[in-house]
Amino acid sequence: LSSRLTETFKNLRTKGKLSPADIDGTVREIRRALLEADVSLNVVKAFTGAVRERALGDEVNRALNPAQQVVQIVNEELVAILGGNQRRLQFAKKPPTVIMLAGLQGAGKTTLAGKLAKYLAKDKHTPLLVACDLQRPNAVTQLEVVAKNAGVAVFSPEPGNGVGDPVKVAKASIKYAIDKQHDIVIIDTAGRLGVDAELMKQASDIRKATNPDEVLFVIDAMTGQDAVATALAFQEGVDFTGVVLSKLDGDARGGAALSVVSETHRPILFASTGENLDDFEPFYPDRMASRILDLGDILTLIEQAQEAFDEDEAAKVAQKFATDTFTLEDFLSQMQQLRNMGSIKKMMSMLPGAGAMKAQLDNFDEREIVRTEAIIQSMTIAERRTPKLLNGSRRLRIAKGSGMSVTEVNALVNRFEQAAKMMKTVAKGGVPQIPGMGPI
Ligand code: GDP
Ligand code: MG
Repeated sequence: LSSRLTETFKNLRTKGKLSPADIDGTVREIRRALLEADVSLNVVKAFTGAVRERALGDEVNRALNPAQQVVQIVNEELVAILGGNQRRLQFAKKPPTVIMLAGLQGAGKTTLAGKLAKYLAKDKHTPLLVACDLQRPNAVTQLEVVAKNAGVAVFSPEPGNGVGDPVKVAKASIKYAIDKQHDIVIIDTAGRLGVDAELMKQASDIRKATNPDEVLFVIDAMTGQDAVATALAFQEGVDFTGVVLSKLDGDARGGAALSVVSETHRPILFASTGENLDDFEPFYPDRMASRILDLGDILTLIEQAQEAFDEDEAAKVAQKFATDTFTLEDFLSQMQQLRNMGSIKKMMSMLPGAGAMKAQLDNFDEREIVRTEAIIQSMTIAERRTPKLLNGSRRLRIAKGSGMSVTEVNALVNRFEQAAKMMKTVAKGGVPQIPGMGPI
């Protein structure tokens, strides 16, 4: 799908400033890519509208590399729709936590029951799987096998706990779980190949009878444009608190995920990625975003821009500030990294408490980096490491060597000292207060 999109981004990358026409062209390609990935038209429209608006705005104009900024906006918006941060399972204050699974037949509910149970058991939970699919022959046996493979307990219908009546079975299972101290109950339910009123009511009745902490709607990632209608039907018929995307190991782009989340306003909690019980993971919106747009290439681009500012790096720098070991060499390497960056604000946002400086950074000027670089490069290693050495004659030498004036050298040294002082405050969790300070 997106070789064209990648091409578009490549073309964009080579441009300095972007014209509205460049942006419209890109937005058109994104629209096409999303539609091909089976994202519903409503969602595509809303999404491309948001991207276009931001892309035409100031943040792109101001960026050192506008194309990268656009790419980043696309990614950010996609991640935002997909739920931003991961949401975790909600546990009951008083056990057992009840998790009910719903979805069409073949969606992957029974398999998921086993995966989820195994995953939770690793975390010292003692899940109980409950067989409430009494519709399909063998469904109970299938769950029993799954439970055995996952090494967890199973609750099956038997005379006395509601043979043939899934609502009774579900209710009985909760009593049983309390009795046997299972802290989590996972209820597997029946589904049909299409949305079905009778089974929907059954699921709704199970929900009412067990008052689950989570109702997870399981949907096959291969589902195309039907995904939204199915999800909305389940939302109306049963309602659910979260979504699980199954069969993500296939070659589906997963556009359904985007549509479902955005139309139902329910987060995706997990991804199911194969037939084995271990093929299961928390859902990562950023990975899904790149899958949908096939952002592989594009993300590499962004990563290159950002790697200088990953959080480890930021933490190291913060440490240096805090311990007063930040030198002009560090200052220079920061500057050099900044030059490759779409935005200096990115780094600032990673340092705790630095929000107050953002306004000042809005006026950031790239030429400043070039001048700073020239000056620092004219210093000896010793001078860079111990700026206190910089007396008058040394400053004069540096000014000559770098083609700058002594005033400019002085200004840089002052700025460095102020920055170091301010960052020290920031690194210790304080709010910096340097009135009238220009950009570092
Ligand atoms: P249910 O009807 O919703 O309970 O669906 P099942 O759990 O019985 O799964 C239906 C089929 O899909 C089975 O053959 C599973 O092995 C398969 N399946 C379930 N989850 C996945 C998955 O994440 N990836 C793949 N490749 N197959 C899956
Ligand atoms: Mg099943």
